[in-house]
Amino acid sequence: MSSPIRMCIVCRGRFPQESLLRLQYQDFKLQTFKGIGRSFYVCQNCQSAPKLSEHIIKVCRLDKKYKEMIKSALKEIFLYG
Ligand SMILES: [Zn+2]
Repeated sequence: MSSPIRMCIVCRGRFPQESLLRLQYQDFKLQTFKGIGRSFYVCQNCQSAPKLSEHIIKVCRLDKKYKEMIKSALKEIFLYG
């Protein structure tokens, strides 16, 4: 059985779901997907993309003023999962 294919929000490439980082923005916080609500995917290459936070802001329809908050949340996610 093959895993479902999902799209990376940054490069729009399609990858097996299990190879992607799944994130969500909920309760004013960017976090790894907790199993409920809307989520989106980032491929391994794009996890270090310089414009990752801007893509997340766009996909979550956030105000640009949250860019630093998104960046620091990403830092934590990459450090601690
Ligand atoms: Zn990508």
